[in-house]
Amino acid sequence: MDVPFLSFRATMDITRGAMLRAFEQFHDSGWYILGSRLKSFEANYSAYNHAGHCIGVSNGLDALTLALKVLGIGPGDEVIVPSHTFIASVLAVTHVGATPVFAEPDPATCTIDPTQIEAVTGPKTRAIMPVHLYGQACEMDRIMEIAGKRHLLVIEDNAQAQGSSFRGKPTGSWGQINATSFYPGKNLGGLGDGGAVTTDHADYADRARMLRNYGSAIKYEHEIAGYNMRLDELQAAILDVKLPYLDSWNRMRQQAAQWYLERLGQVGDLILPVTHPGSDHVYHLFVVRSSKRDELQAHLQSNGVGTLIHYPIPAHLQKAYQYLGYERGDFPIAESIAASCLSLPMFPGISEEEVDYVSECIKQFFGGG
Ligand SMILES: *Cc1c(COP(=O)(O)O)cnc(C)c1O
Repeated sequence: MDVPFLSFRATMDITRGAMLRAFEQFHDSGWYILGSRLKSFEANYSAYNHAGHCIGVSNGLDALTLALKVLGIGPGDEVIVPSHTFIASVLAVTHVGATPVFAEPDPATCTIDPTQIEAVTGPKTRAIMPVHLYGQACEMDRIMEIAGKRHLLVIEDNAQAQGSSFRGKPTGSWGQINATSFYPGKNLGGLGDGGAVTTDHADYADRARMLRNYGSAIKYEHEIAGYNMRLDELQAAILDVKLPYLDSWNRMRQQAAQWYLERLGQVGDLILPVTHPGSDHVYHLFVVRSSKRDELQAHLQSNGVGTLIHYPIPAHLQKAYQYLGYERGDFPIAESIAASCLSLPMFPGISEEEVDYVSECIKQFFGGG
């Protein structure tokens, strides 16, 4: 049997008809940028996400960068980011000229540890960027409390967790301004690049709309030096078709995670994902850990099972960030996760038979049957 790491087959089957109709209407409309489809998706996504405003943008990295720009974060400011995250969270901080300060994750959940946030907060700290990594909401109640006490802003990186929540409040609705990505592989993904900023503050929303469109509210009048960071009408139309299915697709991911968890307890030195009791985990990724990670990955590969590593090199050890002056050993928890993590096949529509097969291959590797 071959089990791909990611397959769009089930979700494509469900939306194919509506998708082709949406494309035809889009094509025939003769209006391709900043039109009614974008407005419609922004209204639907902000309602879904319990956020006052949604501003569609070009991709997740641009959404994060725009959010920081809107808050006026720049040179001389420090932003706390997790030491274990996708590089884009850190890139956004350095792209606005601010300095990333890393906080270690909770080794159980792999999301930023609130205690560590307090430990690295200093006089230059302006903001915290919690990342709902792998689809699990960070401990947002504690993070918001620390931010309130220390007068820090919060920008959530919700690229991996659309539809998740912490104690019932959706991720992407906690921070002053938040960012998400609609990259095809995300829980809500377009057929190309896309992203969004969400906020409850009308003035931040206005500024974000202006910044994404050359710093202009009235055509050819430029109040601020903006960007071209717009979300295409076509991607907005596609995302509007998919949004109503997001919750059911997240439930399918959670069912698949349950199948894995039932089969992989007490297997070798495998560490299974742990969910914080307050967090609704939407399993963008199903990440296990093992000291024999590379051998396990090779074994699965030779048995037709696709896996990936999220992520093999922490930001502080990337060549791009050499200038920050960090060394191996500076963030031992992030380094240990990077050295041991392995993402198993996970997508809406993965069958129980496929999860069975992957699990059997893993047990076979550890000699347990
Ligand atoms: C995917 C991702 C991003 C960036 O999104 P793009 O649309 O690919 O630019 C940012 N942060 C995290 C945590 C992501 O997973």
